[in-house]
Amino acid sequence: MSNWERNVRQVVPYTPGEQPQEQNIIKLNTNENPYPPAPAVQEALQNLSPDALRKYPDPAAGKLVKALAERCQVDPAQVFVGVGSDDVLAMAFQTFFNSEKPVLFPDITYSFYDVWADAFRIPYQKIPLTDTFEICADDYQIPNGGIIFPNPNAPTGIAMAPESVERILQANPDVVVIVDEAYVDFGAETVLPLVEKYENLLVVQTYSKSRSMAGARIGFAVGSKKLISYLQAFKYSFNSYTMSDAAIALGTAALADEAYFQETCRKIVETREAAKKRFAELGFSFGDSRANFIFVTHAHVPAKQIFTALRARHIYVRYFDKPRIDNYLRITIGTPEEMEALYAALEEILQAEV
Ligand SMILES: *Cc1c(COP(=O)(O)O)cnc(C)c1O
Repeated sequence: MSNWERNVRQVVPYTPGEQPQEQNIIKLNTNENPYPPAPAVQEALQNLSPDALRKYPDPAAGKLVKALAERCQVDPAQVFVGVGSDDVLAMAFQTFFNSEKPVLFPDITYSFYDVWADAFRIPYQKIPLTDTFEICADDYQIPNGGIIFPNPNAPTGIAMAPESVERILQANPDVVVIVDEAYVDFGAETVLPLVEKYENLLVVQTYSKSRSMAGARIGFAVGSKKLISYLQAFKYSFNSYTMSDAAIALGTAALADEAYFQETCRKIVETREAAKKRFAELGFSFGDSRANFIFVTHAHVPAKQIFTALRARHIYVRYFDKPRIDNYLRITIGTPEEMEALYAALEEILQAEV
């Protein structure tokens, strides 16, 4: 190693799901929404002016913050927005997790958490999920420097009741607790109302899944005014202009069409519940997902083999070569047509194995 390299912050990056460039594939590997963004977003896109590119954007993203505050029924000073919830979460890690004690998160969870903790040199401790892949609130009662978990959890899809989240909050008044609600709109219960009761609770949500806008990169956090002001101070200390005016306009427009949003979520939930029946018939087992994906394991055929065979048929799902979950596949809920193609392929693949 050269001497200068000793001063390099060397990190092991997060590995996102593949974004294959070929056409005519069925893409069920990164939890994107199969339906287009709301018609109001289409319209806002057409109305974008080149002036929005010429000028610096509004650093406070005022319009979007105001619209989100209205929807979440909080004060605008309780809302923080960023370039996808990954941006919001990364800033929250740096702002709130500065203790010598470890930050706690599940052993099986969103795989960006340990990447950020390593990159920012934050000590952490992974708390094992139960044998049925559930988060046990009582496990989060040990000394710590902060807590983060997704609800529903990823990649398991299993949701925690708000009462269990509140038990964690009650036991941890001295640290910031972050609940990552990336998938909450698909049938889990949000803990947004608890931000009025717990000054140390930060709830993070995203447009990427339930609002079909992963490409726009919009995420947001809701919390107490104090919590949000700390996040803002941190953000303005390294980059004031995180969101483009285009993203701000599109994100604001999306909120105008509540009916479309509800209908899209309903369709996904319906397809997911139907998928549970079909996967069971095909010999898979899985937890009770409340997200837009299902985490499945097959009784006889190894997950990696199924993953490879599906890929050869241009159907992409997600496989994690990691302890405890290396015999599972995370399958995003697509349109009913995409799911039918998946079931047909699975039938062939599994039959070849008997
Ligand atoms: C998808 C996802 C995110 C980040 O999504 P963005 O596109 O950055 O908003 C955060 N947390 C979890 C658990 C996710 O699955």
